[in-house]
Amino acid sequence: NPASGIDFIREIIAEDIKTNKHGGRVVTRFPPEPNGYLHIGHAKSICLNFGIALENKGGVCHLRFDDTNPCKEEIEYVESIKNDVHWLGFDWGTHLYYTSDYFEKLYEYAVQLIRLGKAYVCSLSADEIREHRGTLTQPGKDSPYRTRTIEENLDLFTRMRNGEFADGAQVLRAKIDMSSPNLNMRDPAIYRIRRTKHHRTGDTWCIYPMYDFAHCLSDSIEGITHSICTTEFENHRPLYDWILDTLGVECHPQQIEFARLNLSYTVMSKRKLLELVEEKQVSGWDDPRMPTISGMRRRGYTPEAIRNFCERIGVAKRESMVDIALLEHFVREDLNKHALRVMAVLRPLKVVIVNYPEGHVEELECINNPEDPNMGTRKAPFSRVLYIEQDDFCEEPPKKFFRLAPGREVRLRYAYFITCIKAIKDEVTGEIKELHCTYDQETRGGSAPDGRKVKSTIHWVSAEHSIEAEVRLYDHLFIKESPCGEKDETDFKKFLNPNSLEIIAKCRVEPGLADAKPGSRYQFERIGYFCVDAKDTASKKPVFNRTALLRDTWAK
Ligand code: ATP
Ligand code: MG
Ligand code: MG
Repeated sequence: NPASGIDFIREIIAEDIKTNKHGGRVVTRFPPEPNGYLHIGHAKSICLNFGIALENKGGVCHLRFDDTNPCKEEIEYVESIKNDVHWLGFDWGTHLYYTSDYFEKLYEYAVQLIRLGKAYVCSLSADEIREHRGTLTQPGKDSPYRTRTIEENLDLFTRMRNGEFADGAQVLRAKIDMSSPNLNMRDPAIYRIRRTKHHRTGDTWCIYPMYDFAHCLSDSIEGITHSICTTEFENHRPLYDWILDTLGVECHPQQIEFARLNLSYTVMSKRKLLELVEEKQVSGWDDPRMPTISGMRRRGYTPEAIRNFCERIGVAKRESMVDIALLEHFVREDLNKHALRVMAVLRPLKVVIVNYPEGHVEELECINNPEDPNMGTRKAPFSRVLYIEQDDFCEEPPKKFFRLAPGREVRLRYAYFITCIKAIKDEVTGEIKELHCTYDQETRGGSAPDGRKVKSTIHWVSAEHSIEAEVRLYDHLFIKESPCGEKDETDFKKFLNPNSLEIIAKCRVEPGLADAKPGSRYQFERIGYFCVDAKDTASKKPVFNRTALLRDTWAK
């Protein structure tokens, strides 16, 4: 409902509060499976669930680890998820839960289902179960074990728990309807045997509840009012409701589905991201090219930018593809307001100001952020030998090139007008090694007393005073807007961008950046937004990650 400015989920919740449906309470949850790092899609769900809790008086949002599949889950992921949720600016307070804490309760619920005649132990193999399930156009067939007595089922289920059967030998299934048009309702498995050590319960259990069984009951146990999930669970909702209704639990949360976030030029499934990590296509989950929260943090994204992005995309029922340029737009918007401006030369070209006194150094005043006068000024040293960008000089300039060229005058930012008098070349390669220029000492601060104008302003650093830095330039991880294609899900790696990372080892940056704190963010004037890499930065030798270009490519 764009007119009222609130989305359909918030509308449902507002209505429920009005009608006192859940006693007027709002309890949501964010339920990640700890089988990978969080990505920007999860951020959408986090902003939604924690956001709704914050907006409603007395609202609460739980963080629940949905840890029912021990094969893929690890403590490292649990820790990273907590860290990322906090970093995004949300807090679960005392409401931290693990589905594994409910294993005993869930087991009792399963026993109760058996007692009600609503669950049975099935001894068909996985393949046979699949064959019996039927298809969308064909009803399923009852398992021959469907008619086992309650006593027999109770006995077999106890023995499953006690470890008397091999993995996969038996499953506990809900007894619903093998001819239901909804395949999820055709006697879905709710417990399976799996002898895998669990990261929290160790070897206590050799049977584990399936997602559909554990999720609705965990929601109910925690007193969740609105269980918000993505649309692929829409046709699981009848099962969600069936389990809670059949068991007659006191708290029956309402499941509401919204469209998951898809972002162009990237992939967003933990399984695929894990593949990139394991095959070393990226340096890790926090590689700055990854759409993970940790990757984006390392790249220089701010929590505000991510939250603003999530707010802007909103929530809807229909899936769509969001342009990655929109995400970049929000980080740029935030950094423009807050990032300190500095001068950095990525590809240095030496400039000697031949009429500037040797050994003399001036401290020139530079503005830290023209958007925010409160950020003040800083001093940058100016001397006889400088570096400018190679790109800012052209020996035979084309028509629209207004920067430095032989005989041409330009402004050095915060400093003087200079004129190029000579380009010195390497005798063998012909490559330009350095420029000789003169400066006009009357133009200090950037304007000429005689009122003459120059057509461009370029940035620079003092050769002697600047420090060396490594700069990493990132581009999209994939060359295709939608790398997962329509048909072939395994093909996505064919579309990896071979040029997604360019490293420039010897850049020169203002001396003030020698002690730049890991994670701090800057605008390199005329170049882009950069952030000090939190992992690879050594003392006095910073490494910078390019967060974004200056120019907005997002068409509004
Ligand atoms: P993936 O497919 O990337 O592995 P998942 O849904 O299996 O994601 P979970 O750990 O189960 O990952 O996700 C926790 C919550 O985040 C779920 O409620 C899920 O719906 C939500 N979520 C995951 N991916 C997205 C996405 N792309 N957009 C919005 N919400 C998402
Ligand atoms: Mg999941
Ligand atoms: Mg998944």
